[in-house]
Amino acid sequence: MAQAGIHGLVGMAVGRQMPSCKGLVLGTVLGSFLPDFDNFAVGVATLTSASTDGLHRTLTHSLFFVLALVVVFGVVGVVWKRPFLTNLGLGLGIGVLLHIALDLLIWFNGVHVMWPLDVYVNLWAGVTPPEWFGKLLMPLENLFFAAYFWGLAVLARRQGTDLDRVRGLRGWTAVQLILFLVFVVLVYTLDRGFLTIYGAVYLVSLVLAAVLTVQLRETVETAV
Ligand SMILES: [Zn+2]
Repeated sequence: MAQAGIHGLVGMAVGRQMPSCKGLVLGTVLGSFLPDFDNFAVGVATLTSASTDGLHRTLTHSLFFVLALVVVFGVVGVVWKRPFLTNLGLGLGIGVLLHIALDLLIWFNGVHVMWPLDVYVNLWAGVTPPEWFGKLLMPLENLFFAAYFWGLAVLARRQGTDLDRVRGLRGWTAVQLILFLVFVVLVYTLDRGFLTIYGAVYLVSLVLAAVLTVQLRETVETAV
């Protein structure tokens, strides 16, 4: 999987090219994070010693999931006369599509793009990264979370939106940078227990990224 922060930054960059319909860009950025929430299922399975097979890169990484989001939010938006929800659903669909495309391009894994149908696309089939690089991909999550939070702060400052949140964002950026440095050391030195600590921090960071995105929705949705 590509790092969540990369998904967020790409979602934001694409969102800034979109027309400003309330909910559309917010949905795109949130949708860019959404598929990897399936890692919560992986976390629960790991803690309960159950099999993690088929939990990641399946349901939430499927084109049927994209369709379901757009249709469900679209219908609810029309019935409740809330165009915001319709736009949000469309944005979520676009964001999940971007996520799937990026996951296929980077790094080293395939995606069950039409789950539950047995269609598995892997552009990296036959490529095995060196072990040191495979390990580095984990702490890089924290580095890219830092980049995403920093990007949000820069945008807020430049636009003069959500200025009361900028200080907090800088703090979270610093926390993620420190975590990156700590995990870079631990991933190469800790023999046991790394995945449990790292996995818990990753899941909290993923929720944090979604919460900060919603809190800074004015920044996210303001076109420069
Ligand atoms: Zn993913």
